[in-house]
Amino acid sequence: MPKCVKPIFLNMRLIDIHTHKNIKTNKDIVCVRNLFSSELNTYNPDSFFSAGIHPWHVKDMDELHQVEAVISNKNVVAVGETGLDKLKPEWDKQTELFHSHIELAKKYNKPLIIHCVRAYSEIQAIIESKKFNLPVVFHWFSGSPELARQLTAKGYFLSFGQSLFDENSKTIRAFAATDLKFIFLETDASDFSISEIYQRAANLRNIDIEQIATSVQQNFHTISGLWL
Ligand SMILES: [Zn+2]
Repeated sequence: MPKCVKPIFLNMRLIDIHTHKNIKTNKDIVCVRNLFSSELNTYNPDSFFSAGIHPWHVKDMDELHQVEAVISNKNVVAVGETGLDKLKPEWDKQTELFHSHIELAKKYNKPLIIHCVRAYSEIQAIIESKKFNLPVVFHWFSGSPELARQLTAKGYFLSFGQSLFDENSKTIRAFAATDLKFIFLETDASDFSISEIYQRAANLRNIDIEQIATSVQQNFHTISGLWL
């Protein structure tokens, strides 16, 4: 028997669940790049994507068919970002568009990446009314610990990013209060790298970066069926 076996983490790839940057996946980092309808021509089969019409872009509603054609590809691992934003106009159209994305996610058996601004109750009500039972990831989660507990109690995932660097924010308390089995990390449009965000997350929890990376990999497997 060896006296001391240091754990070896074979799967140390850092998964970035939501980014708008065109960063190539490599041996260390796997990105799920979000494609807006205006970016569908940059789709390629060698990367992972999510695709959808953002609630800020309701004017692109007519392009849902083109979005659907991309969503049907197997390396498109989620539908979105989609959702509701109370600070933006055209609430009725946002709602209609959100319903359509839920239908697409059901049709292609894919999780949802949610953009939510001040609309947590409305989004939960719609998801429940449509009996959507596939995984749901609230990206850029920046709510309170109470909201985090409420969402994760329903099995929803929360993705944290740049707001982990806002000292004394409620997001930091929410992150500390959230079970690792519901956590993702993301860059979105931030200037921080995904490595910096993982390191920050590890420091805040006082655990190794490997532990966060392993949990996120497990969570990614839960939502996509893939091991990376
Ligand atoms: Zn985004």
